[in-house]
Parts: sequence; C-alpha cells; structure tokens
Amino acid sequence: MEKEHVIIIGSGAAGLTAALYTARAQLKPLVIAGTQIGGQIAITAEVENYPGFWSPEHTPTGPELVEIMQKQAEHFGTRFAYDEVVEVDFSQRPFVVKTYSQEYQADGVIVTAGASPRRLGVPGEEEFIGRGVSYCGTCDGFFFRGKDVVVIGGGDSAMEEGIFLTKFANKVEVIHRRDELRAGATLRTRAFANEKISFIWDTVIEEVIGNGLVQGVRVKNRKTGDVSEVKTDGVFIFIGHFPNSKFLEGKLAMDEEGYIIADEKMRTSVTGVYAAGEIQDPHFRQISTSVGQGAAAAMELEKWLAGQE
Ligand code: NAP
Repeated sequence: MEKEHVIIIGSGAAGLTAALYTARAQLKPLVIAGTQIGGQIAITAEVENYPGFWSPEHTPTGPELVEIMQKQAEHFGTRFAYDEVVEVDFSQRPFVVKTYSQEYQADGVIVTAGASPRRLGVPGEEEFIGRGVSYCGTCDGFFFRGKDVVVIGGGDSAMEEGIFLTKFANKVEVIHRRDELRAGATLRTRAFANEKISFIWDTVIEEVIGNGLVQGVRVKNRKTGDVSEVKTDGVFIFIGHFPNSKFLEGKLAMDEEGYIIADEKMRTSVTGVYAAGEIQDPHFRQISTSVGQGAAAAMELEKWLAGQE
C-alpha cells in the first residue's frame, strides 16, 4: 500500500487549486484525477467569467485553463494518478483510498469529485448516447455541422451550449418544460438574439426516437397535453447535475441529493477529510467559487496536519 501525506480526489477547478495550495505548502499532494482531468471545465467551450485570463482578442477555452492549472500545480510538486477512486475507508487514520489499480493510505484527504450531467430518464435516451444524444456541446457539436439539433433545459448551461452549437448546427431548438428561462440575463439575451435558436415552451420529452441514429423526439405540451414529434439529428441534454458521491455513501455525511455536507472551513463529518467544489456545492457551481473552495480546503487541511505533528 502506497503511503501519501495528502490525497486529492478529483481534478476539476477545486481539485487543481487544492493541489496548487497543498503543493506550495510542501505537502506533496497526489491528485487522483478521475476519468477526465479538469472535470467539467475540460468540456467547457469558452470561459468568459473566470477572471485573469480574458482579453478582447481571446476568450480562453476550458481545456486551455485546465492545462495552465495542471502545469502550475505540477510545477510546485503535485503528482497525478490517472485513475478513479472506487472505495474509501475514513473510519481510521491513516485513511484508505482505493482506486481501480492501487490502494493508498493518506494522512489527509480533500474530496473534489465534482458532479455529472443529470439524465432525463426517458425511453431511447440511453440507447442513443453517442448516436445523437449528448450531454456536451463542446465535445460533440462538431459532428452536427449543417444538421438540426434540440437542446433540453432552460438554465445557463442549456443557453451557453445552445449558443455554442449554432456554430455548427443549422438550427437549434430549445425545448424547455416551462415558459420562462432559468438562465441569467446575459445568456438569455444572447440566446433570444441568435437567429439560429428557437424555443418550444412548456414542453417535456417523452421519448428519443430513431433507427440506429437519433431521428427525433416525442414531446408533450404540459399545458395542452398535446403529444407531437420534433424531427432532429441531435438531442443535447442540459438539465443540471448530480454529485459524484456514490463511493462516499455511508462514509461522509451528505444531504438527500448526495451533496457532501461541509462547513465554512470545508470540513466534512470526518476530521481530516475536507470537501470542495461541486460535490458539496449545489448552489454556486462556478469555476471561481470552486477555486475559492479548493484553496480554503487546502489551507484548512494544512493547518490541521500541522496541528497533528
Ligand atoms: P440548472 O440551472 O439547474 O438548470 C437546469 C435546467 O434544466 C432548468 O431550466 C430546469 O428547468 C431544467 N430541468 C431540470 N430537470 C429537468 C427535467 N427532468 N426535464 C426537463 N427539464 C429539466 O443547471 P445548469 O444550467 O447546468 O446550471 C448549473 C449551475 O451552473 C447554475 O448555477 C448556473 O448558473 C451555472 N452555470 C453558469 C454558467 C455561466 O455563468 N456562464 C454556465 C453554465 C452553468 P426549470 O427551470 O423548470 O427548473
């Protein structure tokens, strides 16, 4: 079993920041990066609201930011394991963190495993993932050049990704379950002004239909009860996220939705285990807030470890 001082689970904005701070504090952190280094930033097309990197000539992409954050963390001594945590034992110290290929001991742990896109849970959705159903415009938009797509959801993600998809798609129809968007004013205004975007209000998806590839969606108007079919080549679903905390069930206190409960110092229910970023934050979910939480968790862990010695 490998013995580590500090293990950071996850490599999104919170994880990479916690890595930078613990590395600069000489704690030699090991980041267990998960399936995608950078988490959700890695699949974000353009980042306009993270301060310090924007200019009128250049809006940074998510992958660009991830690359800088990773290099910065590595420069100060962070190591990365490209593996996924499957189990933890926080009942005794040192803590035990098991991945697919390794078992580690750690004096302190920061959990930053983030969140994943929520699924609609309708027939056809699973079947057509990768064949027209997608949860990431940045990843898959390119495949829909000159095609028609629908976007499901009315939040910031749906608008941001819908606008991004107009770079490729012929037509983007937003299907939203209410008659009012949840998205903030900036994205809302931009989406309304985009000639390629149209809206289907008060409507839910009942089924994704196709034959090998997506051909359309069966939808129901919630006000009239009318059921109809919308022909489309792609279904992009942005209806929120759920925390990646399944492996922590019974190990850390969490709310009914699975978000880890952490206090203002990012402390979880287990002393020596901290949480930062979307896995404990159903509210803000911004790169900048996750960065702040990652820094706070690292500073608190450093202080706690110093007190143990
Ligand atoms: P969100 O704000 O929770 O929006 C989810 C949307 O999906 C809502 O419009 C919701 O409808 C709809 N929805 C939820 N469940 C559904 C279902 N089963 N069927 C149909 N529609 C459903 O999620 P998000 O857009 O991913 O944003 C998450 C957070 O990240 C937010 O805090 C957001 O501000 C932030 N964010 C910010 C930016 C930015 O600032 N550039 C970009 C992306 C995300 P209702 O409206 O009816 O609830």
